[in-house]
Amino acid sequence: MPTAKKAGPRLQNTNNELSPGPGTKVAEGDLGTGYYYKLFKSFGVDADGRITASELATRLRESGISETDPRVTEVWAALRRGIDIEGQSRIDLDRFISLCQKGGSVVAKSIRGDFVIPDFAALQTEIAGIYESLRRVDAGHVADYIPQLGRVDPENFGIALCTTDGQRFAVGDADTMFCVQSVCKPINYCLTLEEHGADVVHRHVGREPSGRGFNELTLNSDGLPHNPMINSGAIMSCSLIRPKHDTADRFEYVAETWRRLAGGGTVGFNNAVYLSERRTADRNFALGYFMREHGSFPEGTDLVETLEFYFQCCSIEVDARSLSVVAAALANGGVNPLTGERVFSADTVRKCLSLMSSCGMYDYSGEFAFTIGLPAKSGVSGGLMIVVPGVMGICVWSPRLDALGNSVRGVAFCKELVGRFNFHVYDSFAAGEISGKRDPRRGKNEEEITSTMRLLWAASQGDLDDIRIALATGKDPNSTDYDKRTALHLAASEGHLEAVQYLLNQGADPKINDRWGGTARSDAERGAHERIVKLLTPSPAVAG
Ligand code: GLU
Repeated sequence: MPTAKKAGPRLQNTNNELSPGPGTKVAEGDLGTGYYYKLFKSFGVDADGRITASELATRLRESGISETDPRVTEVWAALRRGIDIEGQSRIDLDRFISLCQKGGSVVAKSIRGDFVIPDFAALQTEIAGIYESLRRVDAGHVADYIPQLGRVDPENFGIALCTTDGQRFAVGDADTMFCVQSVCKPINYCLTLEEHGADVVHRHVGREPSGRGFNELTLNSDGLPHNPMINSGAIMSCSLIRPKHDTADRFEYVAETWRRLAGGGTVGFNNAVYLSERRTADRNFALGYFMREHGSFPEGTDLVETLEFYFQCCSIEVDARSLSVVAAALANGGVNPLTGERVFSADTVRKCLSLMSSCGMYDYSGEFAFTIGLPAKSGVSGGLMIVVPGVMGICVWSPRLDALGNSVRGVAFCKELVGRFNFHVYDSFAAGEISGKRDPRRGKNEEEITSTMRLLWAASQGDLDDIRIALATGKDPNSTDYDKRTALHLAASEGHLEAVQYLLNQGADPKINDRWGGTARSDAERGAHERIVKLLTPSPAVAG
């Protein structure tokens, strides 16, 4: 007998934009109505079996799915209509299913809290708090080696982030364009790796921090620029990007890469910046000639063309929102989280992030790696791109720079960020409860629940090793579950003498009552565990 296939979601067209169009795919496999029904039921379903469009919109928004997210353009358009048109603002199960399917897995994941940052609202609050606390910081000076940078309002301050699941948040001047300057360096380095592979690229550029100024007239002992994150190395990268192509095509290729990385975010070009850069480029020309003298360039390199190409790349413009998506694509191993497009291979990104970690913050790179522990790249326009691998990309833009050329507020933001969250690459060595840092990758209270359950479960099993581990990571031996039961209650009621003894030695309190008024001793009595009862019976001296 043929097995009847479970009925999939009902997909009849009801002539409404909230219904699936022809060719709608069941994006999550044949999940069946039951799967969606559970999601649907998590909303306030009315007597007619419908939910409001605004309720669904709120869920999406709270989980970080913005209205400009290209994955859910149709969903938002439908929801907006649903909200706008009176009498049309209710969504039944069919319409709900079609909306979920139109958004790929994004809508369902948003409802299930299945994103890399499950409690996105809490993260937003923290970031907005950091933004507020740094607004008053006015130390530093804007770069003024070209008038276009010197004229920028120093008060500009924008922060934007995008997670590897495409959850986004922005605050402040996140839509104002600024030129990328040195932030073009990691992107150009990635392009060279994609085109030639690391062996060829590193015949022309090293990968050690220089320990010298970003534009210093110096090369390594092989006569090569120290790394691709300083000016000489970035000029070298430009010589390696599609060298046989026409100059216009080379620039278009770089700009197009930025657009793919930004996933629909704004990417522009500032011609005034370019012209100024070119006019005030004595040092970069000097670096170019110095490298040519040492024979560092690939054969056939046109030096002036290469330098002009470099100035053009520095003059590409973005806003904080789009730069955060670029950073998120790097955090996501080269795949843009909003479009799903692979822009760079994972291997390319791994190499680039390694060099951003060691060389991305000018002469502050070593200190930054020590205190912040994240790959980042800053530029003289005050832009800072920070990558939290596997989690998110962040852009901070604030034009006032410190003496080393990094954005003052940008660096201060990073300190706040890793002070609150365990994002430093080596934070995994310190358990959350000890360092006091939170892990936003975990759900609300997940850390607390998991560690409590681990202790209680170990106690109920008499697993001394696991009890020791739980306590060694800082867990309070008197932690309780929702019934107010402690590890001691569980060990006593299951008759685990050794565990009871150990817990008492570690400060477990035998007087704690569970929600029914029971103590560990009464549990042991109920189970007729005589030796434990004795252990838990206060000695006359103590009792007296
Ligand atoms: N256009 C600048 C230069 O090459 C970039 C400086 C920077 O952002 O570090 O001098």
